Amino acid sequence: MTIHHDKLAYGRLAKTSEEMTDSQIQDMLKNLSAGDEKYILAIDQGTTSTRAIIFDKRGNIVSRAQQEFRQIYPEPGWVEHSPQDIMGSTVAVTGEALVRAGLSAQDISAIGITNQRETTLVWDRKTGKPVYNAIVWQCRRTAGFCETLKREGFSEKIYNKTGLVPDAYFSATKIKWVLDNVEGARARAERGELVFGTVDTYLLWQLSKGTIFATDYTNASRTMLFNIHTLKWDDELLRLFDIPKSMLPEVHPSSYLYGCTDARLFGSPIPVCGVVGDQQAALFGQLCTNKGEVKNTYGTGCFLLMNTGNKAVKSQHGLITTLGATAEGKPCYVLEGSVFVGGAVVQWLRDEMKIISSSDDSEAQALKVKDSGGVYVVPAFTGLGAPYWNAAARGTITGITRGTSREHIIRASLEGIAYEVCDLVEAMEKDAGIKITRLAVDGGACKNNFLMQFQSDVLNCTAVRPKVAETTALGAAYLAGLNAGCWSGLDEIKENFEVEKTFTPDMSEGGRIKLLSGWREAVKKATV
Ligand code: ADP
Repeated sequence: MTIHHDKLAYGRLAKTSEEMTDSQIQDMLKNLSAGDEKYILAIDQGTTSTRAIIFDKRGNIVSRAQQEFRQIYPEPGWVEHSPQDIMGSTVAVTGEALVRAGLSAQDISAIGITNQRETTLVWDRKTGKPVYNAIVWQCRRTAGFCETLKREGFSEKIYNKTGLVPDAYFSATKIKWVLDNVEGARARAERGELVFGTVDTYLLWQLSKGTIFATDYTNASRTMLFNIHTLKWDDELLRLFDIPKSMLPEVHPSSYLYGCTDARLFGSPIPVCGVVGDQQAALFGQLCTNKGEVKNTYGTGCFLLMNTGNKAVKSQHGLITTLGATAEGKPCYVLEGSVFVGGAVVQWLRDEMKIISSSDDSEAQALKVKDSGGVYVVPAFTGLGAPYWNAAARGTITGITRGTSREHIIRASLEGIAYEVCDLVEAMEKDAGIKITRLAVDGGACKNNFLMQFQSDVLNCTAVRPKVAETTALGAAYLAGLNAGCWSGLDEIKENFEVEKTFTPDMSEGGRIKLLSGWREAVKKATV
């Protein structure tokens, strides 16, 4: 252990990523040697930033590094990322996290990768060179084609095979767009020269210098090309989207030895033993490993996921059915509902309305009033997601009186997030036939105690916030560490799991019903 104390001191001297060049990081990495204790490194390649977090065997964070990267908006509604930024930020934060912890690559038992889902890359099989930027999940460029698919009656077939609704969100139409619009791409793809990957696949390929071409079940289930019942790429869908099968990666379990990073990157090879899409990673990181367990992430949007075990539950209420991560070979099934604007309404209060000074300030302001004074804020800035799926809906404030103050608007905005989640929970309860009594919470906005208490009140359900809030990275670390033998099994991990705060419902049934019916009226006004 002594060697680690020395190394940690060295780590504390480390500068931030903005101050360190790649070659400085490489030099520092070379000077570090392996210690006795092993660690797990999670790479969380998200939509706006890339993070690397090193965990010890107790699930504690040893060090972390984060880099934001460019969002590219070539046209209204289009969103792209540079593949170089994705890979460059990944290598930089990984190196920096090692240096900050004073650890070398040999101290790391395993890497777990978690990633923004659906984002699509196409690159050359020989050179690794992308033919186009990464088309981000948020990008709406293929919305017209998805409308055509719906009109032509493909929704049911697609849902029955993939659990998804035809939407520009998922990868399939993005791949088709690249093949149809990038000069020469289709002919090259047909000659077997091009490959497709979501971000996990691209990182695996790049980190292994082209020796790993794979994805996991959770990421595959977001492409709209993967049959979640047979667990195979679907030939009929590949024909529908006109995508050559030779472009597709192998699909493996989320907890699996994918191969090793190239020795030149971090000083020595590190095994990659986990790959998982971000929301499924958070579900696993929250240890929702049993049927009926549910988590909600309060980030920019909100993502509610329920583990439904070995049964794919068909949604009658606008949710999607997808694959979840397990520590075993076979994935589990998950019901998922998402809303587009969650914590983003708080950014709007700060940046556009300028009525709060910081996101954190929203809590103190909301608590200055005893209720929202009859005001409802429906944060439908970009339409409403599940369970309404109304693209034409817009943000709406109702119930304003002469006495309405900025604090009422702030409070009503936070309450709006909680109501959106109530709608998701209600849809999920109906689909799964289960009453949800415990909600595991995470994401940036879950730090807001007012929001969490209000959520617990209007849902009449306990909300549980874990001590390690980085559940996405933690989930990837657990999956990788389990495969690498860092833990004997889930029971050992569960022993280390610590709750930071539990919110229990404290509202009368009558009060709850009244508030929820007011919300329903407000939603109606947002959708006319
Ligand atoms: P993402 O991963 O989607 O980028 P994060 O999980 O980092 O999002 O959460 C960021 C979101 O959380 C932002 O929209 C921000 O406004 C919101 N947020 C952060 N802190 C608070 C807070 N104390 N109260 C309410 N919302 C918050």
